[in-house]
Amino acid sequence: RAKEQGKNRYKVFHTGMNLSSYRNFMLQNELRKAIEREELRLVYQPRIDVKTGAVTSAEALLRWKHPNWGTVLPSEFIPLAEESGQMAELGEWVLRTASKQSVDWQRAGIAPIRVAVNFSAHQFLHRDAGERIRRILEQNELRPELLEIEITETALMGNEESVTRTLRQLKSAGIAVSIDDFGTGYSSLNYLRRFPVDSIKIDKSFVQDLCKSASDSTPFVQAIVSLAQSLRMTVVAEGVETEGQLSKLRALHCDEFQGYLFCPPVEAADFEAFLVRSQAPKTDKTDGTNDPA
Ligand code: C2E
Ligand code: MG
Ligand code: MG
Ligand code: MG
Repeated sequence: RAKEQGKNRYKVFHTGMNLSSYRNFMLQNELRKAIEREELRLVYQPRIDVKTGAVTSAEALLRWKHPNWGTVLPSEFIPLAEESGQMAELGEWVLRTASKQSVDWQRAGIAPIRVAVNFSAHQFLHRDAGERIRRILEQNELRPELLEIEITETALMGNEESVTRTLRQLKSAGIAVSIDDFGTGYSSLNYLRRFPVDSIKIDKSFVQDLCKSASDSTPFVQAIVSLAQSLRMTVVAEGVETEGQLSKLRALHCDEFQGYLFCPPVEAADFEAFLVRSQAPKTDKTDGTNDPA
């Protein structure tokens, strides 16, 4: 009923609701208070260079811990936030928090690390998307080359005008854009031709089928990698869980990867410790010289 009313974004509880729409109704109402109650936080997962093992960036992932219901996953509450018009506010919070975090890491003496922030379709297609992002970067004094925006291919579909506008705004501001969950939408090849992005993230479903005999995804991953290479885009594999998958990706010349194999998404403090360890000069030398690698 609330959906049918279009502009009216507040749902009214009624006795005909089933259990899952009741949960959604409750979650949407609670979400309105989540920011001020400080129930939201970001966790960070490193993106790793396949060849060198170096951390290239950090993907920020949103977490919501409700006092009674515990952790609610983004796959559940983000669509609800979109539906009820709360995504703009949530998205701003995410962008601001991630920007501050990157600046804090630098101030703590850690080499500058780029943060990747996920954007919903609404956020990305908003007419002032680029301007809003620029403003938040300025307020937090984060250099634009230290931000990357991730957007799924489904969000790009059928919105050519708005997508082009935002991409142009971001490009002129020096902010990188990547396509998330690549390969799961429909019009991949066609829009890659029209929308020049900086990197492609191969969806984890392809990565997880890399070593499977039944539905081996190798030819697809190979095709995506060579396409990305000829377009001079960085290609990233998501959801790498095994050594077998990683060595296959290395053989296929994939540039970067993320996944539980190396590191799951972790709290900011743990990520910082992880960075310090990975950026520290090797200590197993006794002559005091640093490893040039
Ligand atoms: P995504 O951007 O594709 O993020 C990758 C998801 O894969 C994350 O799930 C991450 O925890 C998970 N993951 C990482 N490594 C592995 C692995 O080795 N194996 C498996 N099976 N999974 C792995 P998460 O954190 O639950 O986020 C789910 C989705 O929710 C994200 O997918 C993204 O689309 C969305 N999301 C998360 N945070 C935000 C946000 O701040 N804003 C928006 N608009 N969307 C967000
Ligand atoms: Mg992502
Ligand atoms: Mg993804
Ligand atoms: Mg995903």
